[in-house]
Amino acid sequence: MIKIINSEEFSYFLRVHRNKIIKIWMEKSEVQNVLHRHSLPIIDKNTYLFYQFCDCFISVIEWRSTISECQIKIDFLQLLNNYNVTVADLFTLVFKLKNAIEQVIFENGNLSYALQSEIDSLTLQMAIDLELNFETIINSNQNYKSENSNLLTEYKKAVDLSNIVSKTNPKGIITYVNDKFCEISGYSRDELIGKPHNIIRHPDMPREAFKELWDTIKAKKSWSGVVTNMKKDGGQYIVDTTVIPILDVDGDVVEYIAIRHDITELEQTKQQLRNINKAMKNKVDELYSMTNTLEQKAYKDKLTGINNRENFEDIFALEIATAKQNNIPLSLVIFDVDNFKLVNDTYGHQAGDTILIDLVKLIEDNIKNGDIFARWGGEEFVILTPSTDINGACNLAENLRKLVQLHPFSYVENQMTLSFGVAQLSDDDNKKTLFEKADGALYEAKKNGRNRVEGCKV
Ligand code: GH3
Ligand code: MG
Ligand code: MG
Repeated sequence: MIKIINSEEFSYFLRVHRNKIIKIWMEKSEVQNVLHRHSLPIIDKNTYLFYQFCDCFISVIEWRSTISECQIKIDFLQLLNNYNVTVADLFTLVFKLKNAIEQVIFENGNLSYALQSEIDSLTLQMAIDLELNFETIINSNQNYKSENSNLLTEYKKAVDLSNIVSKTNPKGIITYVNDKFCEISGYSRDELIGKPHNIIRHPDMPREAFKELWDTIKAKKSWSGVVTNMKKDGGQYIVDTTVIPILDVDGDVVEYIAIRHDITELEQTKQQLRNINKAMKNKVDELYSMTNTLEQKAYKDKLTGINNRENFEDIFALEIATAKQNNIPLSLVIFDVDNFKLVNDTYGHQAGDTILIDLVKLIEDNIKNGDIFARWGGEEFVILTPSTDINGACNLAENLRKLVQLHPFSYVENQMTLSFGVAQLSDDDNKKTLFEKADGALYEAKKNGRNRVEGCKV
């Protein structure tokens, strides 16, 4: 047995038996009880803190350091607080550590009375110091908790003020509505609580949209989308909606929270914009087709759709200039329907029109792409043939004459015939003189019995 009478002996003893003291301390049933009750796991990091705490305690009772110097206690207390260990439990831990030290001492020797009372006194001081520190830690933590719960209350207030909020049970029965919900829907709170949420369903909302919503939230996922709802008075409001399923600890849905923003005005503005866009597009299309028609009217003959006289005269001038500049031939063919007055008189003006349309189609199909075909006026037409001399133009006229003579026109019993006048541009010709030459030839053709081509023999 060792006799421990002075502080050096005591100090030496404690250091030698440090590990044994800790082992006995932590195996004490009261200490185990505290750890179990608070589910405080003795994992490496925590064990380290218990060791440090024990060292710290030992250094205090052997007068190596003062209580306030024992810094590790704060980390230790923090650990205890994290597991909601109470002040009473803390005292249990401290006094059981003292017991463990005493136990090891008594198993190995005797302690002087002075040292025993020293341990008692220091342990008490240590316990008081720990309690003070511990309470500071507990209080600061509670402040934090209450600050957090204040923050939550503020959040809730903010959400309630700026959103339309409702809660339903898993069956869709309304359990909560905020003021904004009542305000926009026109229902009082009493009229809503206990009712199915579809009380505000708008008939225009497609059923599939709600199916998708329910499929999503039943699968415990949040759903977001735009929903049209119906007010009590039948009016509608459009909301940007998020529905969040709230789960209990077992993961079952206990309620749904729906948070919405009123976007009625935004959606109406969007719709107005869409309407304006559509109207503008229609107007533009209308203007475009009007311009097209006007252009057509300006250039085309109304009845037959070929170039009118104004347009032809422009092209005529241009082609003469081009031919002269490039020294290439240019010829003009004029033709007039023979005895057309008789056709009108016999079969009517309408029949006359149809025949003119058919005639134009027939001619168009039998001239070259580059030939310019126009209605000069009445039943008189012109064909300007670039790069074509008088022979080419006469051949063309002759072919057309034969073609028309053999063509079966509707209405008329007798054959329709044309008289042609042809002329080629010469160096000193202009629009007027070339036209006069061809027109003169046409006159000849009429004079010489019609259904003929004149102007070919020079
Ligand atoms: P000619 O052989 O000497 O040319 O005899 P014609 O009867 O053809 O000549 P005239 O100048 O006497 O008559 C031309 C007729 O053509 C008179 C006019 O009513 C008719 N005519 C002119 N333009 C149109 C039209 O767009 N539609 C119809 N149906 N008839 C037209
Ligand atoms: Mg005629
Ligand atoms: Mg005529």
